[in-house]
Formats: sequence, C-alpha cells, structure tokens
Amino acid sequence: MVIHQEFRDVKRPNLGIAAWAVPSIVRHGTPEQQERFLPGTFTREITWCQLFSEPGAGSDLASLSTRAVRVEGGWSLNGQKIWTSLAQWAQWAICLARTDPGAPKHEGITYFLVDMSSPGVTVRPLKEINGDEIFNEVFLDDVFVPDDLVIGQVNGGWRVARDTLSHERVALGDSWGPGSGHTDMVALIDTLGGPGALRPSALEEAGRRWASGQAISALGLRVTLSQLTGGDSGTASSVRKLLGMRHSQAVSEFCWSIAPDSPYWNRMILATRAFTIGGGTTEVQLNIIAERALGLPRDP
Ligand SMILES: Cc1cc2nc3c(=O)[nH]c(=O)nc-3n(C[C@H](O)[C@H](O)[C@H](O)COP(=O)(O)OP(=O)(O)OC[C@H]3O[C@@H](n4cnc5c(N)ncnc54)[C@H](O)[C@@H]3O)c2cc1C
Repeated sequence: MVIHQEFRDVKRPNLGIAAWAVPSIVRHGTPEQQERFLPGTFTREITWCQLFSEPGAGSDLASLSTRAVRVEGGWSLNGQKIWTSLAQWAQWAICLARTDPGAPKHEGITYFLVDMSSPGVTVRPLKEINGDEIFNEVFLDDVFVPDDLVIGQVNGGWRVARDTLSHERVALGDSWGPGSGHTDMVALIDTLGGPGALRPSALEEAGRRWASGQAISALGLRVTLSQLTGGDSGTASSVRKLLGMRHSQAVSEFCWSIAPDSPYWNRMILATRAFTIGGGTTEVQLNIIAERALGLPRDP
C-alpha cells in the first residue's frame, strides 16, 4: 500500500494477466516456482495468459472439461479454451484442467503453469467488437506439463483459482479507476478548455462521476486492507469489480458525449462493453454478493 501510494503519480507498466497470476504463485507456489517465474514476470520478459474459460465453462468455471491425465513425469492436457486474452503473445499460461473426473466438480481440478511454446498448443485469434484481436481460442492436444509446474495440490486447483479470480477482479477494477490512463475524464475536460467550457449539466455529471470513482477507489482500499489482515476479500472484490466496470462504461459514455469526434472515446465506448463480462459477469458478481455477503439462498 505504501509503495502504491508513493507511486501514485508515476505511470507504471501494466503487468496484464500477471497482476492476478503472481499473487497466486506467491501464495500457493513453491520457492522454486517463485524463483523461476517472478523475476522475469516483473521485468516483463514473461507475458502470461489465462487458460480458464472454455466453450462450455465460463460463469460456471468449475464445470470445465479440459482433461489432464497422468503420464510419466507429469501430465498430458487435452481440451479447448476460449476468450484467452494475449495468448498469441504469451510465453506462459495459468491453466485449469480436470485431473479427477470422478470427484465433485470443484474438487477434481488442478492448477497448472503451461509453456505456450509446448508442442500441441494451437492459438487462433478472435475478432472483438472494436476490431482488435486480443483474445483467442486455444487448443491443447496432448500437451505435456511436468509435475513441477503444478501450483498447489493436485485436485486442489479450485482454491488457487478462486484466489486468482479474486485478484483479477481487484486488478480489473483498479486499472479502470479514476485517474487511470483510460478513464482520465479530467484530462479530457482540461483539453476541452477546462470545467468552465462545459455546460452546467455536463459539469454536474462530471462531478458525480468523479465522486463515484473516488468511492469505488475507497472500496479497493478496503479490499487491500482485508487481504493484509488475512480476511476473505472475495465479496468486497466482487462489489469493487461490479461498480468499477459500470463506472468505466459510464465515464466512457460521458466523455464520448462531450467529445463525440474523439476516436479514442469512440473506441472506449465499445471496449468497455467487455468489462461487465470479462473477469466474471455482472450477474455472477451479484450472485456472489447475494450469497456470501447478504446470506441469501444459493443460486440453484
Ligand atoms: C474482454 C474479455 C477478455 C477475457 N479474457 C479471458 C482470459 O484471458 N482468460 C479466460 O479464461 N477467460 C477470459 N474471458 C472470458 C470470461 O471470463 C467469460 O466470458 C466470463 O466468465 C463469462 O463466461 P461466458 O462468456 O461463458 O458466459 P456465460 O457463462 O455463458 O454467461 C452468459 C450469460 O448468462 C449469465 N449467467 C450465467 N450464469 C448465471 C447465473 N448463475 N445467474 C445469472 N446469470 C447467469 C451471464 O451473466 C451472461 O449474461 C474474457 C472475456 C472478455 C469479455
């Protein structure tokens, strides 16, 4: 937190998926795994991707069907992943696969690190609403993963995955907070001639957006504090993600309304649509909040 505060005016590199892969390697990985992967990740020699979602497993991720079977010295992975951001550039992946199909679905999953240059890994880009090709389909055909690339316990991967998903929500929320390069509404207003150049109704809306952005940032701080004291940040990170993503959409819409000719904000309107889906959809966050924070009956 102290480092975060000291660096607040410095634009730091975006670690991408590593922002939520690293905390799980720190918490659940062996010292050898940490030694092997963390330095290269921080210097950005290693780009990570996340092989979690499948055509039949998104919101209900634990129903994933990619299989890992025991072979000499490790595991052989077969299956298809989808929506894998950055897979075409990544050297390494965090990957979930089913190691015990007979166990209850949350208990038969293992968390692997996969070398994306392994034989049997095929990456096919998908086109997004804004024309980019950032996410991909990834096919795994007899991909060998050695034993020393299992994170946590065999069949204990769901615990690690939950940790990763929780950090993902926080990181996604953070990178779209007020003052970030993407949603810098104030910088836009400055380029348009400052607050005085806005209509009163637009100025009022800008103020409202800024205030809600500050409140969402305060929630992010609460998530960090609860992590530091060993608490479960799961629910708070869902609230943070839910509000942060809606906020980024609202800011983009507002900025576009005051700068309709800006190609950047035109693009952001489209780009931010994805953020109430990726990292767990709005409906799924609402379920988590309802069940875990409010104690409402479980989603059937
Ligand atoms: C930009 C972007 C990048 C992504 N990058 C990655 C990545 O790098 N790696 C990766 O593994 N995945 C990635 N994803 C995938 C993302 O995690 C999934 O899209 C997300 O979890 C939703 O899964 P789904 O697309 O299968 O939708 P589904 O789970 O099929 O959901 C469809 C709809 O049903 C609703 N729904 C589902 N279950 C419930 C329920 N129980 N109650 C109420 N409503 C429900 C959902 O809210 C949604 O509206 C990315 C997605 C996006 C948009």
